Amino acid sequence: MAEPAVAKVLVANRGEIALRIMRTCREMGIPTVAVYAEPDRRAPHVVFAEDRILLAGANPRAAYLDIPQLIAAARSAGADAMHPGYGFLAENPAFAEACVEAGITFIGPSAASMRAMGDKVAARRAMQAAGVPVVPGTDTVTDDQAAVAEAERLGYPVLVKASAGGGGIGMRVAKTVEELRPAVDGARRAALSAFGNEAVYIEKYLDHPRHIEMQVLADAQGTTLALGERDCSIQRRHQKLVEETPAVGLKAETRAAMAAAAVRAAEAVRYQSAGTIEFIFSGGQFYFLEMNTRLQVEHPITEMVLGMDLVREQIRIARGESLSADGVPASRGHAIEFRINAEDPLRNFLPSPKPIRRYGPPSGPGVRVDSGIHPHLEVSPHFDPLLVKLIVWGADRQQAIARGRRALQEFVLTGPATTIPFHRSLLQEPDFQAGRITTYFIQEHPALLERVRSFTAEHSPFESFYGSPEVAAAIGAIVAVSEEKG
Ligand code: ADP
Repeated sequence: MAEPAVAKVLVANRGEIALRIMRTCREMGIPTVAVYAEPDRRAPHVVFAEDRILLAGANPRAAYLDIPQLIAAARSAGADAMHPGYGFLAENPAFAEACVEAGITFIGPSAASMRAMGDKVAARRAMQAAGVPVVPGTDTVTDDQAAVAEAERLGYPVLVKASAGGGGIGMRVAKTVEELRPAVDGARRAALSAFGNEAVYIEKYLDHPRHIEMQVLADAQGTTLALGERDCSIQRRHQKLVEETPAVGLKAETRAAMAAAAVRAAEAVRYQSAGTIEFIFSGGQFYFLEMNTRLQVEHPITEMVLGMDLVREQIRIARGESLSADGVPASRGHAIEFRINAEDPLRNFLPSPKPIRRYGPPSGPGVRVDSGIHPHLEVSPHFDPLLVKLIVWGADRQQAIARGRRALQEFVLTGPATTIPFHRSLLQEPDFQAGRITTYFIQEHPALLERVRSFTAEHSPFESFYGSPEVAAAIGAIVAVSEEKG
């Protein structure tokens, strides 16, 4: 069989991640094909790609999930490889298979690896067999009596989770036996409607844990590398908002044990490409949560401290090339990612899908912006509210925080409500500055949200640059008058 070439890549995604993948392709001299649903006609990824193909669909989301259409698009554009990004079809084994059957190289793991990790109960079993610690918990619970006995054995609080889960969907906490039945029923209903699979299981709900995950890269020759951890404990609704690396205060021996467990986990499912083993960390111990068999939203912080390009590595692996014999580069400094979502922090992070008005991203030392927007772009309620990722790097955590503050202050993004004021408030919080973070952070720091209000009212020094020419002229006039007076 001939080696897969990866000569032209169709990116089966949209938004910041589609553009981010295309940028690496361009650096590697690989032309790309964008696909888009009607509302994305003028989106940056569509403008950037060499070729673009409109997808038909009952709604914009359905278009990006339409496997036959994506395969047909790749064929008609002459793409020999497919990059799924994250979300949409990235963890769908049927999509990976459809690509392979069509003779298209799927830039990601095999369908078999995805299946082995796709069902959380099966993944837990496989991990236990591979000697990876898992959160104390159960197999699928079918009978309510058994559920009560199991929860009793684990001790309350417990967390009922969908076996097919993702995105925090189908997860319910039960603090007492009275809450168990409604939690199980609620999780089942949510799982059935989101995943078409009502299987649920129960885990011990760990107290004040941290979410710490390990990036892995594995090639076709059987080399699997752990590329270091990311602390993703700052979350709302059990979903990440801020990620950083390295994890504050993580002992070298714990990091090494976590890296070894992550490599065992990936090897157990014969993993290839970039992937992430998520652990929950509590009481000095780490436990396997799940594996994300794809590139993750927060991958840039790992790239920043290692000086690596993970998409490039994915493409090299898909071409059958080996990982560098030099192993993992030494990690340098500290990186933090802030997810800038079209969400209102003051309304419980409710999505705010309004058109972008002004957009002026920050730059300067240690700043990376992965964006999928431009002024006047409509923000569709059909898609994930993530607009832009701000990633900062510093020689140490303190410098990364200072750069984060400065960059967030510079940021001009008006139209929808965003998480920018939340992040600015977070960086003021003494417990965050000291690295005292757990997944309970937001709920336990009410002052955070109170401070958001004052940041919402504060404008970037550059705001006027991005307004209409009339507004800019008016501001210029005011400045001139005050200068005369001064
Ligand atoms: P999903 O795949 O739906 O995102 P995960 O299993 O990855 O679900 O968990 C998401 C988040 O929920 C974790 O980052 C953590 O904050 C919280 N969580 C999950 N399992 C537990 C647990 N057993 N105890 C405490 N918190 C948990």
